[in-house]
Amino acid sequence: MKKIELRYYNQIGVWDKQEANPLEVERAETILELIPNDANSILDVGCGKGIVTNYIQKPFVVGIDFARTPLNYLSKNAIQASIESLPIKNMKFDLVLSTEVFEHLDDSSFQQAIKEIKKLKANYLLIGTPYLEDLDIDLSKCSLCKNKFHISHHYRSFNAKWFAKEFPEYELRRDEYSAYHIPTNSKLVKLMHKFGAYSYSEFARCDKCGGEALYPPRITMHAFGALMLIDRFIKQICGIMKPYNNIILLKRKS
Ligand SMILES: [Zn+2]
Repeated sequence: MKKIELRYYNQIGVWDKQEANPLEVERAETILELIPNDANSILDVGCGKGIVTNYIQKPFVVGIDFARTPLNYLSKNAIQASIESLPIKNMKFDLVLSTEVFEHLDDSSFQQAIKEIKKLKANYLLIGTPYLEDLDIDLSKCSLCKNKFHISHHYRSFNAKWFAKEFPEYELRRDEYSAYHIPTNSKLVKLMHKFGAYSYSEFARCDKCGGEALYPPRITMHAFGALMLIDRFIKQICGIMKPYNNIILLKRKS
């Protein structure tokens, strides 16, 4: 993991928004419901500030995150470590949980993370990822080096069956979608980019130089904001929705 990534995730503002987002809350509730009764020890890899971890009612719960700041909010056992090198050697967990983590990993980190999770040989894996995310929609532009980066540092998008290739040692037990939402119009977003307006947040940081995101031209932003609102309204009337998350429960083949 790069230092820039660590600096980004150590901003408390990145985590503050989570509980205020109803999609995130619904996602967390779905995950908690999917934890099997016979899973008593749980390791949450990439637990963040514990939006899921803190609510797990099981005898032994450990949360791991490589960023220090969110771990201050964890009410369970906490370990600061990277998913690429898990410091769990002689301990076996019934279930390894990892949600909203894999999409943040570049290719080499992703492969290493899969290896590390397999080494744990847990009976269950419970994994959540954004469902078929269009990564272009949340592109920000760096105000310093002009690099374009995903506002939440997402590097990969997942289809419905991605896990079958990565975890052949496991079989699928549950496959759930959580928190349906109205999808953003990708054509409007592409057009908006042509006019020089990209996604903005005060906490967004360029993944190349650490610079802040470029503030979009005000008029362009308002014009596209209005168009997006109309698009959403039409979709709402037509009932066009898309799952926000895909959550899968895998069981180790015996
Ligand atoms: Zn930059």
